[in-house]
Amino acid sequence: MKTREEVKKARKELLKSAEVKSITYKGDKRISSPSRVCGVCRAPLSGMNYVEGVVLSKKKHIHLQYSKFLYIDICYNITDCYRNLKI
Ligand SMILES: [Zn+2]
Repeated sequence: MKTREEVKKARKELLKSAEVKSITYKGDKRISSPSRVCGVCRAPLSGMNYVEGVVLSKKKHIHLQYSKFLYIDICYNITDCYRNLKI
């Protein structure tokens, strides 16, 4: 994706076709994957806290579920995607 228009469209389609949408806040430890990245700009959204040995959310993001096995996460704010993609 190279333009803001493309990013806007991609996010809209992802949001529209998701079966379940939920917001994951920064610091949330209820997630299981330490490798969540934004499906639009690839920004890292989760990671490990090695001191506590837990997975946690590094940034507020939207968790989109498409089926039991398929999900995508995206930055909560579209401006973060723009910034990460430098557009
Ligand atoms: Zn993003």
